Amino acid sequence: MKIKCIPCTLKKPVAVRLVKKFLAEIAKNHPKDFQKIQSKTTLIKRVPKKEIDIGTRGQVVEVDAEVSSEASWAGVFDDNQVEDVFKKVIVFIDETVKDSESMFVTIAHEFGHVCTTKKDLARRNAPSDEWASEATADWYVYKWGYGSISRKMNARYPRRLSHHGAMPGETLTDNGITYRLSKNFVYRNISEPFKSLAAKLKDRCLEFMSKSGMHI
Ligand SMILES: [Zn+2]
Repeated sequence: MKIKCIPCTLKKPVAVRLVKKFLAEIAKNHPKDFQKIQSKTTLIKRVPKKEIDIGTRGQVVEVDAEVSSEASWAGVFDDNQVEDVFKKVIVFIDETVKDSESMFVTIAHEFGHVCTTKKDLARRNAPSDEWASEATADWYVYKWGYGSISRKMNARYPRRLSHHGAMPGETLTDNGITYRLSKNFVYRNISEPFKSLAAKLKDRCLEFMSKSGMHI
């Protein structure tokens, strides 16, 4: 079967219906992103059972083995790199998920990965490549208008922080630095303002003491 010219071997009617709905909406409302999805996605298929068993609900895998995921990440934080992270991909969706809203958000999230550019990743200012990637996929989910259903699903099925990172408004601490994820999915370092305030206070104290002839 093909959905909007993309080969699809999903079997469950609900999964096929949701992929059709998603692709139709993106084609209509976000044609540039749709073009990218259509040109990159070589196949949509089900997540293998062994992956489902370890909690994988969806996945995007580069088709060309020579472009390993590690090679794709190289230079991720160079803001000038506008090219896409993936060239040709297979998108895996777990079609056994019972909750269709949850499956729909997974579909949108995985296609968010497909559309990701290296510049998107750099913009996230994330403490790790994995969190940059996850925040970018979610940034697309929100951009495409599925933010409220995504929030609803996150409340219904809390996600693993170690993989997904924060959601907008949430904070997390990594290597002693606390970040808050902004509504645009940018990790803001909220430890620094306190550090710079402390440094300013110290300078003022030293200035005051030197003026008063105090020595330490
Ligand atoms: Zn993801």
